[in-house]
Amino acid sequence: MHIDIITIMRCPACKATLSLTVYAAGNNGEVREGLLTCTSCSTVYPITDHIPRMVPTTLFYDPDFLARHSVDPSRLLHGWDGQLADISEIQKHTEENFGHEWQHYANLGWTSETTQDTSAMEESIQWFHEKSLLTTEDVAGRLTLDAGCGNGRFSRAAFAAGALVVSMDLTCAAGVARANLVRDGRNAQVIQGDILHAPFKSNTFDVVFSIGVIQHTGAPLKATANLAALTRQNGLLSIRTYRRANSRLEENDAAIRAVTTTFNMAELHEFADIMHKLTDFLCRKGLYWQVARHIVIFPKRYDIFDWYAAPVAAKLTYEEMRDTFSAAGMAVLRDADDGTSCEERCFSAISILGEKRS
Ligand SMILES: [Zn+2]
Repeated sequence: MHIDIITIMRCPACKATLSLTVYAAGNNGEVREGLLTCTSCSTVYPITDHIPRMVPTTLFYDPDFLARHSVDPSRLLHGWDGQLADISEIQKHTEENFGHEWQHYANLGWTSETTQDTSAMEESIQWFHEKSLLTTEDVAGRLTLDAGCGNGRFSRAAFAAGALVVSMDLTCAAGVARANLVRDGRNAQVIQGDILHAPFKSNTFDVVFSIGVIQHTGAPLKATANLAALTRQNGLLSIRTYRRANSRLEENDAAIRAVTTTFNMAELHEFADIMHKLTDFLCRKGLYWQVARHIVIFPKRYDIFDWYAAPVAAKLTYEEMRDTFSAAGMAVLRDADDGTSCEERCFSAISILGEKRS
């Protein structure tokens, strides 16, 4: 963590400012290990491996850190006030599954460490612009939040476009993202934090983007409104999320997910292998799109695993997103609405970009 970032950080529990204690400094004025203390409610947040852990103890708990620095565990954040129990359950499940996913797929969208092949990274850059609708000019030189950064591949794409990026993830993927970004020579600022309780001052970021994340929060429209609140006046908010498809696909998907969400990690991998083989077969027989109208399938194994590993996966419409943007004072600048009705659609996604006007 860079010391400067404390000026835009806030206690996620009560939104007051934070004070910093440094236990171990890293390179270039960074804090490798330290403690952030809320100046109002006195809750403490560990900084470990350069990453501020702005989440409850259910999502990050390091007893060795507490013992090393004589921090009383009762001072940590033990839960969110007023949070519904089911969202806490979703977050814990998400931490387990997506934390595992990004450790398993740590290099997805990055250059392989053993080859000079840069096509995956070039593809990530192309996908970043396609999915976010953000141009290089939109982000160059701008303070930009990657909300739900996973392994950091889209943070890297934003860095490549010249953005000053702060990356945040709910899960231990934050560590994977930081390692990837630092290895790539980027000035990484990675925070473990929650979109529903963001550890930042309101009206802060020039650009906020969130690619493939809000559908997994259990409260996607609230997540959108929260990200709009972090965007400064005339700043940009970009959201990429799942789009509602035809009713038969949605019914089948709900039925399949009712089973797969009970699977443990080994079972999820086994299921992803089976579905991957099935999809491969359907592709060879020319039946992919015929079946994709009825169930969610993807040609890539990673996408299958990602789809079924998510504890929740909300599907939204452009109308819902436009209404949420409008209520949050965001004027829609661009979207990728092709005008199809739900009943015409297989699985697809929403991309929407707005500018904060009030
Ligand atoms: Zn506080």
